[in-house]
Amino acid sequence: MPAQIIDGAAIARQLRELVAAEVSKLKATKGVTPGLAVVLVGENPASQVYVKSKSKQAAETGIKAIDHRLSETTTEAELLSLVQKLNADPAVHGILVQLPLPSQIRSAEILRAIDPAKDVDGFHPINVGLLATAQLEHALVPCTPLGSLILLKRHLGTIEGLNALVIGRSNIVGRPMVQLLLNESCTVEIAHSKTDDLPAHCRRADIVVAAIGKPEFVRGDWIRPGATVIDVGINRIAGSEGKTKLVGDVAFEEASKIAGAITPVPGGVGPMTIACLLANTLTSACRHAGVKAPEWTKAIRA
Ligand code: NDP
Repeated sequence: MPAQIIDGAAIARQLRELVAAEVSKLKATKGVTPGLAVVLVGENPASQVYVKSKSKQAAETGIKAIDHRLSETTTEAELLSLVQKLNADPAVHGILVQLPLPSQIRSAEILRAIDPAKDVDGFHPINVGLLATAQLEHALVPCTPLGSLILLKRHLGTIEGLNALVIGRSNIVGRPMVQLLLNESCTVEIAHSKTDDLPAHCRRADIVVAAIGKPEFVRGDWIRPGATVIDVGINRIAGSEGKTKLVGDVAFEEASKIAGAITPVPGGVGPMTIACLLANTLTSACRHAGVKAPEWTKAIRA
């Protein structure tokens, strides 16, 4: 039987609608409009597209997006000064500094300077620590792993006791994904470029999360029949007639014949990432207003 396709675009839409409803509620009950400051340094074309899309979707959910465009030659001190200004601004509940930053600026210094309570990317060491110690009620969780978990729970319901393999150990995706799955009581394995016999690890997994950055790297015959596959990868490769196309880290055609369910690329994890950024902004605004924020992984379950 072919795999069920997990429709990330539709689930992201559902999440954005939920965020929009909660934004209206917060405005009506507390007079608070969630504010998201999006900081872009330089002219990176991919970053410009991301930032535009983040600001547009924020506005659609009633979140006030405030764009800050800085020149390619901005110094670290100048960017730190802007971050401090945003930290102190009560109208700003979320601060997102788009990565990568130009080489004269140390990203780690900037990420550490963001107020953890406004760190909607969830990259500040305080948020990393809160996630690692399962204090999720105080943490802001990185958007891509959070979106991946929402997709998994929406599809599987409870994932307790399942064997999960996360391929990739980046701070942005792999590591926080491991913590989230552990928190859901999965038995978690983490694989990386030095892992021996990756196909054998894959064949034991009920859940595979691939965050590698290598086109169609995970083959269909690595997948355990019936497993759920979350493909985080976004890779641009040559397509037909001189065009390019996007593919994931999993060989979709092969894997979808064996998996129980799989996310497509595009239209899987990608749309969830921005939706979770909006959800995190609302979470931060609720906490600043002394209101309980929704538990997104529960709120969005089927
Ligand atoms: P990184 O390059 O930071 O990390 C890649 C990870 O893959 C590393 O841990 C690396 O291992 C591991 N890896 C590389 N080669 C192999 C191999 N042969 N076998 C096993 N593991 C390997 O990437 P990111 O985590 O930032 O991103 C991963 C992918 O997800 C990319 O395609 C990116 O575009 C996409 N992405 C998508 C997002 C979305 O919204 N959908 C958001 C963020 C990323 P090691 O540590 O040993 O080097």
